[in-house]
Amino acid sequence: MPRELLLQVSPEIAANEVLLREQVAKLFQVTATEIQKVVVLKRSIDARQKAIKINIKANVYFNGENVTEQAITLPEYKNVSNAQEVIIVGAGPAGLFAALQLIELGLKPIVIERGKDVRGRRRDLKAINVDHVVNEDSNYCFGEGGAGTYSDGKLYTRSKKRGDVDRILRLLVGFGATPDILVEAHPHIGTNKLPKIIQDIREKIIACGGQVLFETRVTDFIVKNNEIQGIVTQNGDTISANKVILATGHSARDIFELLDRKKIFIEAKPFALGVRAEHPQELIDKIQYSCDFRGEYLPPAPYSIVKQVNGRGMYSFCMCPGGVIAPCATSPGEVVTNGWSPSKRDQNTANSGIVVELKLEDFKPFAQYGALAGMEFQRAIEQKAWHLAGETQKVPAQRMVDFTQNKISASIPKTSYVPGTTSVEMGQVFPGFLTQIMREGFVQFGKSMRGYMTNEAILHAPESRTSSPVRIPRDNETLEHLQIKGLYPCGEGAGFAGGIISAAIDGEKCALKIAEALAK
Ligand code: FAD
Repeated sequence: MPRELLLQVSPEIAANEVLLREQVAKLFQVTATEIQKVVVLKRSIDARQKAIKINIKANVYFNGENVTEQAITLPEYKNVSNAQEVIIVGAGPAGLFAALQLIELGLKPIVIERGKDVRGRRRDLKAINVDHVVNEDSNYCFGEGGAGTYSDGKLYTRSKKRGDVDRILRLLVGFGATPDILVEAHPHIGTNKLPKIIQDIREKIIACGGQVLFETRVTDFIVKNNEIQGIVTQNGDTISANKVILATGHSARDIFELLDRKKIFIEAKPFALGVRAEHPQELIDKIQYSCDFRGEYLPPAPYSIVKQVNGRGMYSFCMCPGGVIAPCATSPGEVVTNGWSPSKRDQNTANSGIVVELKLEDFKPFAQYGALAGMEFQRAIEQKAWHLAGETQKVPAQRMVDFTQNKISASIPKTSYVPGTTSVEMGQVFPGFLTQIMREGFVQFGKSMRGYMTNEAILHAPESRTSSPVRIPRDNETLEHLQIKGLYPCGEGAGFAGGIISAAIDGEKCALKIAEALAK
């Protein structure tokens, strides 16, 4: 039996197997040669003191003991070629993990995705970045793997259900992610690694007899007597099934409009909106690690901050250490920011969404849109930003201190946002109440994180796709839409997830409920 051990070591020791073994030997008062292996189970950074420590939970095996490291294997996926068909609309994390779960349960998924496969998608990302051309079906939000494909691939979640989270992490490792994600307190995969994992998931779905249709946009639902019968695609083709998982993400405005037009019940949902701030990574390292240089053993520092300003939460969102700001518009005539980073997080900039929570009452000027009021509020800001920055994929930008002082920045340095920036007074982009909260909030952030409030930090606008502006309500027990039998609103777009892991968990949940319903 291994001895379980909790210990705190320096970053250098944590990064070196030999040094770690020596440290463990000291604690057990034995020689290092008596220890066969130290298997690290969990690792986190403790940056609260000046001398940063790494917390490690490990199993220690002495000589002669049987080392049992849990092998990661994929579940038994069945051949579902002739099984009952279930339509999944959207190949994001929710849709893909729903498909895998259906196969495990002996059902055949037909995944319908408006965008291209991960390789085809790359060309369209280049077109947004370089030519300022937005393809409405293939962009940073739409295409194989969904919005999570070209992201930082952060895998932490607020979900309290550790078992569900671990299952998704283990599946990701089974499909090629580094086993480190099972150990790190804040795991991430990185933009350069995610596409291959997603491609392998797709290949597994197809090898088991499932179908994945790219460049196929769902334009209508076939509904009879409040029961779903199938879907219609942009070419007028129909695909029939009496179980449909709708996992189209937070940016599928045409799906929200379709549901609204068909009088299929949806409701406005509060979300958060603001800017994306970019600092030199070195500066964030200094603040977070209280040191002049990070050194070679610590990762680029992340940060997480939240303040209450005028009764509203203002907080960092989707922070990308060593990352890049991405153009995430899904239609021409709008600009949207978000961030990604490579697995090594080795860019010299750190970016984060800095957003303010919105309330339903904020959408009143758009009340004529009913359930779509929040979506129209969001769209209006994205379109205004597009217009103010010069009607390309350039975004409005302002230095942080200048923003708090309502002063247009005399110059904006080159940032990681490839399409470029235009110096704009941000107050013009946002409604007055939001500008006021952000101005006050940044001052408060600067007091908590000394050095954060600086004109070296560049704000890019807007960060507007934080979560869905619409909820597609479902029954808590069956997970079916409240009004349409057989329709399963799923993932972030339906308002039941936020982030890769929780979307994947929700996909699995919907698949399980479908299997349960079919077994009755
Ligand atoms: P989505 O991933 O949005 O997938 C929906 C899919 O449905 C898309 O592929 C879309 O093309 C398709 N679709 C839409 N309409 C139709 C239609 N009519 N017909 C057919 N298909 C359709 N989350 C994290 O946890 N960690 C991160 O580091 C992270 N970084 C991010 C970085 C960026 C740049 C972006 C944009 C998002 C990031 N996110 C991150 C958020 C995360 O990607 C989403 O929370 C997650 O992808 C939601 O999963 P989903 O399956 O519900 O929806």
